[in-house]
Amino acid sequence: MGHPERTTVLISGGGPAGIVLGLLLSRAGIEVTVLEKHADFLRDFRGDTVHASTMRLLDDLGLGEKFRRLPQGRLGNLQIPDRHGSPVTVADFSRLPEPYTYVGMVPQWDLLNLLAQEAQQEPTFSLHMESESLSLLQEHGRVAGVRYRSRTDGVERELRADLTVVCEGRNSSLRQQLNLPEVQYPVPFDTWWFRLPRHPDDRQEVRIAPLIRGSEVLLTLHRTDYYQLAYLAPKGSDPHLREEGVDSFRARVTALSPDFADRVGALSTMDQVHLLDVRLNLLRRRWAEGMLCIGDAAHAMTPVAWGSTWRSRTPWPPRGSWLLLYSAGLSRSEIWRGSSDVVCCPPARFRPFSGRSTGR
Ligand SMILES: Cc1cc2nc3c(=O)[nH]c(=O)nc-3n(C[C@H](O)[C@H](O)[C@H](O)COP(=O)(O)OP(=O)(O)OC[C@H]3O[C@@H](n4cnc5c(N)ncnc54)[C@H](O)[C@@H]3O)c2cc1C
Repeated sequence: MGHPERTTVLISGGGPAGIVLGLLLSRAGIEVTVLEKHADFLRDFRGDTVHASTMRLLDDLGLGEKFRRLPQGRLGNLQIPDRHGSPVTVADFSRLPEPYTYVGMVPQWDLLNLLAQEAQQEPTFSLHMESESLSLLQEHGRVAGVRYRSRTDGVERELRADLTVVCEGRNSSLRQQLNLPEVQYPVPFDTWWFRLPRHPDDRQEVRIAPLIRGSEVLLTLHRTDYYQLAYLAPKGSDPHLREEGVDSFRARVTALSPDFADRVGALSTMDQVHLLDVRLNLLRRRWAEGMLCIGDAAHAMTPVAWGSTWRSRTPWPPRGSWLLLYSAGLSRSEIWRGSSDVVCCPPARFRPFSGRSTGR
């Protein structure tokens, strides 16, 4: 694919927000170019939960059947232990309206591949992998596109657009460039992600039952032949944990889950334990002339105790459901303000999402 110099809507970042927005706009006949800095969607240590509201939106898009064909587990409830260690059900998804009486557990990359393949059916959609946005182009007081570098040839280029949508996630460099007003909320803990092997005779039932010991928590996600684990501890503990070393970390895991004693040896160094700096923030204003921020670039929320699950049935802004709701969360007025002369789809095109705007 050649290197474009001009497009109608430039989307910087091919995560859930960027790919879904690209799909929606290209289906509406709008020319869209997505720049994604990585070569693929394989980002590990992301959550897998796809909530009922998201599955309904996939149905609205005609993608429900393809989605259901992806390898997936089904989570029927959420349990936490009481003070004696007995499980207490705190969320029972079987009470949700049919047919989505569960939370789907699907790795994010499978879903992104599905959505990107679908978007690529549209003649007005183009996705440029290994293309990293470097800076915003600003002309006459408005954003006019980005300067980016293609990693395939290392050359820097300019891509101009009527509207630039920043979907670069929580560490967006383009967003920082504009210095938009932001609110940070305090979060008391961080998360460390790692993997442990899953044995063929392990329980098959998908469960997320946090194991709690004092201020430490362990969450387990089932993947095909391994477990993805999240260890939660007070914010700022990372230097201490690394100083203690991997033996001590293994002991912490085993104290939380004795069942893993036979496999914690798979962790041979703390380099296999990845810190997630848990954040909760919100842009007070998500737009500048010619530009919008959506998704985590506008409001990062790491799921807090799987809070996104509960949010799936509430009208709260859709920060927790990491898929369609991000682009759906874009209010029409924000689109119009971001570029009054570009995204002028008839409102009917946005109908599946009406009433879901964040309205902030
Ligand atoms: C550890 C973890 C677990 C989570 N678990 C869940 C869960 O179970 N359920 C749930 O609903 N949500 C979960 N979330 C939240 C969810 O993953 C995010 O909210 C969601 O991925 C945000 O989507 P996004 O498209 O806004 O940003 P991202 O997914 O961060 O995507 C941003 C994309 O932009 C690209 N990019 C960044 N900078 C540039 C650049 N300069 N140029 C080009 N491309 C760029 C990145 O490579 C990336 O592909 C979790 C998040 C984390 C971190």
